[in-house]
Amino acid sequence: MTIDRHLIDALREIAGRDAVITAADECLVYECDMLVYYKGAPDVVVLPGSAAQVQAVVRACLDAGVPIVPRGSGTGLIGGAMAPRGGVMIGVNRMDRVLEIDVQNRYAVVEPGVVNLWLTRAVEARGYFFAPDPSSQMVSSIGGNAATNAGGPHALKYGSTVNHVLGVEVVTGRGELTWLGGPVPERPGYDLTGVMVGSEGTLGVITKVAVKLTRAGETVKTALATFDSIEVASEAVSAIIAEGIVPAALEALDEPIIRAVEAGVKAGYPADAKAVLLIELDGPAAEVEVQAEAVARICRARGALTLRIARDDTERALLWKGRKEAAGAVGRFTHNYVLQDAVVPRSKLPAIMAQVQAIAAARGLTVANVFHAGDGNLHPLICYDERIPGQFESALAASDAILDACIAVGGTVTGEHGVGMDKAKKLALLFNEDDLAAMAAVRRVFDPKGLLNPDKVFPSHAACFEATAPGRGARPVPEGMWV
Ligand SMILES: Cc1cc2nc3c(=O)[nH]c(=O)nc-3n(C[C@H](O)[C@H](O)[C@H](O)COP(=O)(O)OP(=O)(O)OC[C@H]3O[C@@H](n4cnc5c(N)ncnc54)[C@H](O)[C@@H]3O)c2cc1C
Repeated sequence: MTIDRHLIDALREIAGRDAVITAADECLVYECDMLVYYKGAPDVVVLPGSAAQVQAVVRACLDAGVPIVPRGSGTGLIGGAMAPRGGVMIGVNRMDRVLEIDVQNRYAVVEPGVVNLWLTRAVEARGYFFAPDPSSQMVSSIGGNAATNAGGPHALKYGSTVNHVLGVEVVTGRGELTWLGGPVPERPGYDLTGVMVGSEGTLGVITKVAVKLTRAGETVKTALATFDSIEVASEAVSAIIAEGIVPAALEALDEPIIRAVEAGVKAGYPADAKAVLLIELDGPAAEVEVQAEAVARICRARGALTLRIARDDTERALLWKGRKEAAGAVGRFTHNYVLQDAVVPRSKLPAIMAQVQAIAAARGLTVANVFHAGDGNLHPLICYDERIPGQFESALAASDAILDACIAVGGTVTGEHGVGMDKAKKLALLFNEDDLAAMAAVRRVFDPKGLLNPDKVFPSHAACFEATAPGRGARPVPEGMWV
């Protein structure tokens, strides 16, 4: 879309000349998140340095009737931090200060561009950590984590980001700058913090986040168990939880992933294993000891071939490095992949894993799985080669079929990545018209003009958008096509 010269001048006035990007080739850098086949470059990118600047930018855009897309680190996997209608993107990366750490009251206040892992680094010497740990935690921003309600390996025990956000300062789609919640927990009244967390930039731009700090457990034990197949490993997952044990993390990796990790990261996973479970227990030493014995017993009874416990922090860190870098390592054996995020009831894991393999095989595709097994949260990576005609479309069809299979067994279409453009059309399978209308009514309260991150989350665009393979045809959807 064409951005009025006066708006660009106003944005420069607000944030400074250097903080406003207008060159088309530079805006291209912001055309997608990590789900790279949804593309839409903003016309202007603004990099404000303060909440007051964000508010002024939002107000200027509202006055001009221009779409506003918030962006953190751009690691989203949903077609979220991209601008299908063009408009102004607000990148919060320069707002990257930890403003307050209060260990006594166990909270911190950060700007939205603070990278997740920085906060843990800032408090770990005092025995604390920031519990939400998406595998992107070396890069993703806490503002983005709050906006997507990010999960991660340790969400099994500690919950996802919403359980760790005490309050957010936001600029709403009305141009107000306000706190919802705050460092003191359990405020009376509506849980508007809960409404904002996971709203994916459709209700406001987050300018500060007050988060809980979690005390690190006295002891941590990390075990690696190997299995003959991912289905057998999945059965062990259910058995561990059924025993009443809630590990800090319970992650599964299948054979293609193990091969990729060992070729790249060399995390010490047995290269010939067909599946591994990474099981972490934390808490008081006596409790962890008992749980570790129980986990070993259950794994053996459920067909584990080997089980080893990391001897020290170095070995433990290496095992986790393999897990956290697994998705990237897959690039060693495939040109492209579609990464899916869905949830099934844990007990359905063995059956769904077999179905995932069958769906991919029926289309001549390989699928690799690395996932938060304890939460029943699948992440199949459907591998394809964009240079082979038809493969991208087959991968998308497989991805769709996997989602349908998850819904059919009582699951849902996103475990942690969110909705964005990618899952919007699937919401209609989970919610009826009245549910969606209620959500839209909430949105109008915060964003009456519908200018905040338009075309995300709600299924209004479903009939109008087809994902296209990189380099194949039009990407941004013409403005008039959107409902
Ligand atoms: C290798 C890899 C591993 C990953 N592992 C996990 C995982 O284990 N668990 C998990 O949940 N996710 C995971 N993700 C997905 C992603 O990292 C998370 O969704 C993360 O929370 C996104 O943060 P971000 O800063 O990159 O946000 P972005 O991608 O920049 O934005 C995500 C969404 O939030 C909105 N947004 C961003 N900042 C703000 C703000 N300040 N105010 C309002 N809205 C905002 C954007 O508009 C967009 O809709 C992974 C991604 C990768 C690439």
